[in-house]
Amino acid sequence: MRIVDVQERSIAVSRYADPAIPSGGLTTSLIAIRMDVVREGRPVVGYGYASVGRFAQGGLIRERFAPRLLQAKDGALADAAGETLDPFKAWDVMMAGEKPGGHGERCVAVGALDMAIWDAAAKIAGSPLHRFIRARLGVAGEPPASVPVYAGGGYLYPADDLVRLTDEMRRCRDLGFTRGKMKIGSAGLDRDLRRIDAATQALGSPACLAVDAMNLYGLESGLQAASALAPRGLWWFEDICDPLDFDTQAAIADVYPGSIATGEALFSLAEARLLDRHGRLRRDRDVLVFDPVHCYGLPGYLRIVRHMTERGWPHGAFWPHGGHLFCLHVVAALGLGGAEVNPFAFGPFSGLADDTRVAEGRVGLPEAPGIGFELNRAVWKTFTDNFV
Ligand code: MG
Repeated sequence: MRIVDVQERSIAVSRYADPAIPSGGLTTSLIAIRMDVVREGRPVVGYGYASVGRFAQGGLIRERFAPRLLQAKDGALADAAGETLDPFKAWDVMMAGEKPGGHGERCVAVGALDMAIWDAAAKIAGSPLHRFIRARLGVAGEPPASVPVYAGGGYLYPADDLVRLTDEMRRCRDLGFTRGKMKIGSAGLDRDLRRIDAATQALGSPACLAVDAMNLYGLESGLQAASALAPRGLWWFEDICDPLDFDTQAAIADVYPGSIATGEALFSLAEARLLDRHGRLRRDRDVLVFDPVHCYGLPGYLRIVRHMTERGWPHGAFWPHGGHLFCLHVVAALGLGGAEVNPFAFGPFSGLADDTRVAEGRVGLPEAPGIGFELNRAVWKTFTDNFV
């Protein structure tokens, strides 16, 4: 069993569904991994991408990590029974010779490939990814029939912001979401408070709205925002300051009574350990939004989950970032708190499977083999247009 081809393409993704609004220049890496295994008359191909919100990793993938996978000897990537790919062995092959530290963008390159490897492995096994992960990790029992989700989005619109933000949050509610998240931190606090009030009204309650400052505040501006937000009783306050500024993180955790979410811009177990040691987060209310794809893929993410849960964090505290179908499977497989969905932003990767319906803020899991990208027309068209 071998990987016979790895392809990568960089594509643009936008925070806005409206193509008339400048995208901000974000990109992501699409991945296709072809196996020498045939299912239903065709070679198995695993698909993945580098999540959203950052940039493509084509150079690292093409020059460093894909060649290691392609050079792996026959059988070196197979599981113990020789029946399918072992994503943990593939991960060891990708990381061979890498030194500790220097996580930077390397973790995203590995995470993008890892997503495609899990897709291929689950397809060879003929199993939807959440069931495959549970079997591989020895998790007993049936997976949950549905998992909690929330709608991510609410970026500052360059024009008609209040009207468009309100409309976006109403549409999220109409789709069946009960909770949503909006971005703050770049419009000025007074204006952000008006935006928060508008979004709160559209969603029905402040307890249904999370705000994400995209790591923009410093100590002083973060404390000002925290004291203005505290009486509002929001669902959570996310990405307050620079992800490695644990002093500021701790100072705000000391005074902000509501839930704080963080971890999205920390990419390794080493950084997660530092956050836990120095961020003064509260295990009874705070939220961990590490993105599995940005944390060296599922093997890296599992190390973080294991470390934090051993230190007293509940599995329910994990709400992984990204809004991807991959995370939905991971949440169901590991029994985490819930998953982000981007109903409108980051096309073609907005939404989940085309026939997924959100009901009371929960969704069911796709039962097609693998991740199920084939079940989303826009995503599937993007993969098939880019990889022939
Ligand atoms: Mg965030």
